[in-house]
Amino acid sequence: MTKYDVPSRDVLICPWCKLRQFVGTTNLCRRCRKRLPITFLDISLSSIDPHSLSSLVGNIVRELRQGRGYSQSVLASMIGSHRTHVSRIENAQLMPNLALLVRTAVALGVDKISIRVRD
Ligand SMILES: [Zn+2]
Repeated sequence: MTKYDVPSRDVLICPWCKLRQFVGTTNLCRRCRKRLPITFLDISLSSIDPHSLSSLVGNIVRELRQGRGYSQSVLASMIGSHRTHVSRIENAQLMPNLALLVRTAVALGVDKISIRVRD
């Protein structure tokens, strides 16, 4: 694995003042301080109880889905799945595999899943 001294950073253009900027640790524009169209969701692995992982995933999927105004059926058809499958994921009865999780994330507008490694 190649190691970089400078971590990769995302660039975003503010929809209000058009300032092109690196995405920092907040979702506020560096110039006009308005909210950028981005939401961060940091999950600290050190604080995750492995048994609660499925409920964490389920809650995130539900929150994002409801935020987009999608029904479970709509999301299911977007990801090539069935409504009951989505329901079981949201209710932590089922842990989606990585491929399904990524499809779900894309359907819900997630544009980046980052993995941070501590040296
Ligand atoms: Zn701005």
